Amino acid sequence: MLEMRPHCECCGRDLPADAAGAWICSFECTFCDDCARERLHGTCPNCGGELLRRPTRAAALPRKYPASTQRRVRAEPCPPDAA
Ligand SMILES: [Zn+2]
Ligand SMILES: [Zn+2]
Repeated sequence: MLEMRPHCECCGRDLPADAAGAWICSFECTFCDDCARERLHGTCPNCGGELLRRPTRAAALPRKYPASTQRRVRAEPCPPDAA
């Protein structure tokens, strides 16, 4: 079962479990759409793994399978926007 972390590790944007637009790697490092595509180009900056779209969890389920509320932030800054 996925942990469903609550936000982007780069910019801290909230990523609700029932909303689309979150990306995860196989370790569930979690990023928002903008960071995953524009900054990270689909590669996890923590482990080098591939980022894939995180499936959403139906809004009715969190009562039984609550999403994680643990906010995990990268120790290192994320790469700057590729301008
Ligand atoms: Zn982000
Ligand atoms: Zn990772």
